Amino acid sequence: AVSCLGHTNPRVVAAVQAQVALMPYAHTSFFANAPSEALAAKLIARAPAGFGAGRAIFVGSGSEAMETALKLARQYALEIGEKERTRFIARDMAYHGNTLGALAVGGHMQRRVAYLPMLMDVGRVPACYAYRLQASGESDEEYGRRAADALEAEILRLGPATVAGFVVEPVSGAALGCATPVPGYFRRIREICDRHGVLLIADEVMCGMGRTGTLFALEQEGVAPDIVTVAKGLGAGYQPIAAVLASAKVVRAIEHGSGLLANGHTYMSHAVACAGALAVLEAIEDEDLLANVRRQGAALRAALEKRFGQNPHVGDIRGRGLFQALELVADRETKAPFPAAARLAQRVKATAMENGLICYPSAGCVDGELGDHVLLAPPYVIDASHVAEIVDKLDATLKTCLVDAAKAA
Ligand code: PMP
Repeated sequence: AVSCLGHTNPRVVAAVQAQVALMPYAHTSFFANAPSEALAAKLIARAPAGFGAGRAIFVGSGSEAMETALKLARQYALEIGEKERTRFIARDMAYHGNTLGALAVGGHMQRRVAYLPMLMDVGRVPACYAYRLQASGESDEEYGRRAADALEAEILRLGPATVAGFVVEPVSGAALGCATPVPGYFRRIREICDRHGVLLIADEVMCGMGRTGTLFALEQEGVAPDIVTVAKGLGAGYQPIAAVLASAKVVRAIEHGSGLLANGHTYMSHAVACAGALAVLEAIEDEDLLANVRRQGAALRAALEKRFGQNPHVGDIRGRGLFQALELVADRETKAPFPAAARLAQRVKATAMENGLICYPSAGCVDGELGDHVLLAPPYVIDASHVAEIVDKLDATLKTCLVDAAKAA
């Protein structure tokens, strides 16, 4: 999900080398640097509506970006004089990073459990997870409305004047395997956030920067967030970098208030990292890679459906663009997951590696412990032969692992 250009893109390598030779580092409290200014301008120009006069902050990881987004939402509340707004709401089965603030908003139980007593108290709503949470006979629109209305209920429960922001992955990543929103869900979420003065914070660390076929994943829902974070595909692995984009509304509040961003880091807006990310974005645009993500994403999805659509242990195939996942079940009719003792996700990871396929299996999508999915996030530069290779290797992997898991079950 990171190395979206492969490992040897000459343009990015050259940009990183040139910048490190020219000017590797200068502290942002004394100096701006050209690559960070150019990268911010490019990202803001391509960001959703409402970001025209927005700004970008560059940090070193997705977790750092999420911490920054949370603190920015708090700063926004202070700048507009709404001092009571200190609470966040987030979804079950979400992953937002490993630092304490990001872990607190995350809903990935296995990664949180050791630190629970140290985490801030966060309001929680169910994810938009149609495969398991949509009722039979309920239309997509009805389910989307019900799922979104859970946010309003939680805002009312906490007290609307106390909520600073709602944190959400537009397309789920590690914790819920590419679960996509049903139509209308995010439009309703946007209305609810606006009604209660709650900032909509989109965590696009994994699903953003082209992974789903558009530069920003939320574009496809027809709504814009107030703050969006991006990371993995931004640096494509050539440099560690993440970004927080703040919409004009948030920036204006700070400009008309204290005038200062309250949150700084020594290595923010690092010149070499920004030069690398700028070259990544240029490569994506000049090589028209988002069109390839959409084309190969559709081909991958069709191939997965053809190969696994009738598999008795594949309950759901979901995702967008080159971000697709299979949810594995013991019984397709009842959607019963495999028992934890079958250790299916670990088996799939190890067997796939032996077969020459790096995929991202994970457990816990049903209740934090049970439920297995396999996530695929190949580079944007793949062609039809890679799609066939991925599906063949996954098929061979699942053939071995599902037999073993069924025995263990
Ligand atoms: N948010 C999401 C949606 C992620 O997928 C991740 C990383 N898997 C993070 C945040 C945290 O990013 P990092 O690992 O770079 O800190």
